Amino acid sequence: MLRLRHLAWPAVLTAAAVMAAGAPAYAHHRGGSEPTLPYAQPATPPKRGCTTVANPTAPTGSTPAVEVIYAWHDGDGNHYEESVEQIARIVDRIDWLIDESTNYDQHLKLSCRYADNGTYADYAHALVVPEKIEAGANPYTASSTVRSDLIGTGYDDSNRYYLVFTDFESDSDAYQCPTTGGNPVTGHCSAVVELWDSGVAGHEFSHVLGAGHAWSGESGGAYYADIMYGWWDYWMADQDFNTYYDPSETTASFYIDPYPSTTTANIARHPALTTPTCCDTGFSNDLLTAQERTAEATAPGTAPTGFTFTGSGSSMAVTPACGVTGVSCTYYDGRRSIQVSVGGAAQAYLAVSRRPAVTVGLTYKFFARLRSDSAKNARLELGWYNSGGTLLSTSTSTDIALTTGWEERAFQATAPTGAATVRLRVTTPTGQGTFTYQVDSLLLNTCNPTCRPGV
Ligand SMILES: [Zn+2]
Repeated sequence: MLRLRHLAWPAVLTAAAVMAAGAPAYAHHRGGSEPTLPYAQPATPPKRGCTTVANPTAPTGSTPAVEVIYAWHDGDGNHYEESVEQIARIVDRIDWLIDESTNYDQHLKLSCRYADNGTYADYAHALVVPEKIEAGANPYTASSTVRSDLIGTGYDDSNRYYLVFTDFESDSDAYQCPTTGGNPVTGHCSAVVELWDSGVAGHEFSHVLGAGHAWSGESGGAYYADIMYGWWDYWMADQDFNTYYDPSETTASFYIDPYPSTTTANIARHPALTTPTCCDTGFSNDLLTAQERTAEATAPGTAPTGFTFTGSGSSMAVTPACGVTGVSCTYYDGRRSIQVSVGGAAQAYLAVSRRPAVTVGLTYKFFARLRSDSAKNARLELGWYNSGGTLLSTSTSTDIALTTGWEERAFQATAPTGAATVRLRVTTPTGQGTFTYQVDSLLLNTCNPTCRPGV
């Protein structure tokens, strides 16, 4: 697919962006500030290093990899020597933030033009290739001009994904190339970045890998806590494993844009990244399947695969469609949610059928987004089972007051002695009459050493 993605500056950021750009008109690149949430990046990111060594303009037959380019023109001059290590550090930070977002080990594959001697300076020089943009001129050079130059120079190989840092005023934008570089229209796939920090460059390069903007959906609300929307603050990618990055299930795909777009992706399977392997530490993690998180594989109005329901007089279904076939009337992400219709005297329980394995003494945190048109209460529950399949005990949250918004709720508890698996349930206290509520965006974190925030 060929789609140019501009960096969409939200209105709230306009003033800051103008200030950042308020330097002299002919200043070279604009230095950005690194995102510091959900926690500070390391002062010096781990050196990623070269994955492969190839001729930058003729890498034919090489493994798919990222080619990093420093672009300059006569108007602002060539500052390669001053910039090369700064650029390499930003690339290292992008590698760090992808790896750090989850408990999966996954990294960029970087192409270098020669095998470096082990020093950081030599690595940076091997990684970052200078390219003069002959048609570039002050005060502004469009990213299309940059790309035309690169294509004319031979930077259009299907094995390469170009990450271009412009040392002059240009654009920050990207093409989406989730499966291969060298797309059939331009022969070239790249992110062009004029604002130099890992938030902007990581955002744009994530577009190349296939990510969209993480609007939460489908519900129309903005979702700020993500590099694909809040890159000025946040470095992490898809903390819910349900929008564009799920390294735990690389065959899963997610809608990356609001309805009616049908574009799906999962950047975890991108050929310019290493294969994800579990488990290291990271900001978020998940023990559920994509279907258990999203219910996307089941048609509206039918019983959701992977879920079990108990409670005479009540029922569950993927939230029915109203007007658009295959799309639930209301949902948080993707196109579907689960609806529970509560009635009768028995307590109603919606359960994830599969019980994920747990370790005694470790803490687990169950997240779900819940909404209802009725002001009723729900609870989250963790039920602990031994290896023989006997329920040992349950840990249940206090009452959660449902609202019409898709608020994220979470409840955590520690696996007791003898526990081998955990049952996840959403329930509603009895005596509340007849009403419906919806569930979406489930997640189960392990909290040792950390689980992500959320109440
Ligand atoms: Zn963007």
